[in-house]
Formats: sequence, C-alpha cells, structure tokens
Amino acid sequence: MTPMVRLRGVHKTFGTHEVLRGIDLDLPAGSVTVILGPSGSGKSTLLRTINHLEKVDRGTVVVDGQLIGYRQVGDRLYELGERLILRQRADIGFVFQNFNLFPHLTALENVAEAPVATRRLTRAQARERALALLDRVGLADRAGAYPRQLSGGQQQRVAIARALALEPKLILFDEPTSALDPELVGEVLDVLRDLARAGTTMVVVTHEIGFAREAADTVVFLDAGRVVEQGPPGAVLDHPAHERTRAFLSKVL
Ligand code: ADP
Ligand code: MG
Repeated sequence: MTPMVRLRGVHKTFGTHEVLRGIDLDLPAGSVTVILGPSGSGKSTLLRTINHLEKVDRGTVVVDGQLIGYRQVGDRLYELGERLILRQRADIGFVFQNFNLFPHLTALENVAEAPVATRRLTRAQARERALALLDRVGLADRAGAYPRQLSGGQQQRVAIARALALEPKLILFDEPTSALDPELVGEVLDVLRDLARAGTTMVVVTHEIGFAREAADTVVFLDAGRVVEQGPPGAVLDHPAHERTRAFLSKVL
C-alpha cells in the first residue's frame, strides 16, 4: 500500500550544520506518528520539510502520491511556483507550538478564513463549517472571542479547528502542548486523541510520553538528524534498542 507520507533520503543543512542527515519514513494513511528527540535533533525541521516550509537539499517528500515542492522531469527536479506550493500546503495542516492565531480575528473568523481565502468555500459555508469545527473541539460557545480572551488551551484548540477547516490529508503538530500551563495540556491532548480515533493521519512532535503510548501507532526517535529507531510505542518506549533512546527516555519519563 502506498503510504500517505513517504520521505526518502531527506537532507537539510543550515550553513555548515547538517540538521537532517538522510531521513527515510513511510507513514500509512490514518496512522498517528509521534516524533521524539532531544532539542536540536531536527524534529521541527523534519515537520517543516513535509509541507515545504523548509526546502530539502536532497531527497524527496511525497504526500498522497504527490511530490511536494517539485515537479520531476526525467531525473531532474524543478521547484514548483508559489501558487502550486500553496495549493499543496493547503492539504497539509500545521499546528504550531504558539498557536499562531490571527489576533484581530475572532475564533470563528480564524477557522473560517483559510477556506474562503483558498476559495474552497463561500463565506457562509465557511462560517457554518467553522462553527461545527469549534463545536468539535468544545468551543462552540467561544466562537465570538478574540485569541487574547482565550486561554492557551482554548487558543490551541481553535488552531486545531483551523487546521481541520481545509480538510487536510494529514496534520503536522509541532509540540502542540509545550507552551501550555500544565493544567491546560489535557484538554488539547483530548482533542488529539479524538482526531486519532477518527482516523486522521497525524505526525506529532511531543514530549508527552503518555500520549505517545496511548495514541501512537509508531514512535520515531530522532537524534542528530537521523532516525535512531522507530516502532510501536510498546517497543520503542519500553524496550528501546539503542542507548541514545534509553538515555533520552530516562530524562523525559
Ligand atoms: P528541534 O525541533 O528538534 O529542537 P530544529 O529542527 O528546530 O530542532 O533545529 C535543529 C537544528 O537546526 C538546531 O541546531 C537549530 O538551531 C538549527 N536550525 C533550525 N532552523 C534553522 C534556520 N532557519 N537557520 C539556521 N539554523 C536552523
Ligand atoms: Mg522544535
């Protein structure tokens, strides 16, 4: 079966620092992948290459059979124009650590904005869908609130509803709970668990080991730009094969 996401030989260097050193990954449709790894190991860069927010130096990213960021002619790759890149990116949701909501828009407007901008829906349709999505993340009663009037957990749930609004093929989450006060982490993880149960293809960078254990199909441990090991949570978390994984887990568990 063709995976939803396929990375082959992905390399990325900033200056002289090789941040990704040949990443191969296959993520099946409907699967939840949790990416673990020390700070600076390349987790955010890896996520950002999947939707071409970061251009790879070498290697390929394919999402749902589509080469991301490039067109292949013979054995050469040509970067796509901005419009085509934005179209590809619209199929890949991204949820950031710091929510990145538009401060001057209400929760409802934040969620309704993208489907209107991409002309996928009329304004009325987009508002209707936005309300349904806010309801799904438990925030129907906060539709008219501005981000500053919402808690961090509520803002992150709005950001998740916004990611869902374009009906993406997959959603990438970059440490979605690490900017939250501890008492607000649970409400966001609950939403992630619901999405996982609904069969959403998700890639989640997180240090929430409990979430990884319950919700992940695959846990990937990244260190210094390489996949050190990957497998079901019971294997990677409870019986890590590599010393570096063990050392990392002993710090976060
Ligand atoms: P992680 O998310 O695992 O903490 P990152 O992918 O953010 O790691 O970063 C990996 C390394 O790449 C770090 O050393 C970081 O400083 C560096 N890096 C990330 N983005 C850039 C950039 N735009 N320019 C230069 N260096 C970067
Ligand atoms: Mg990061």
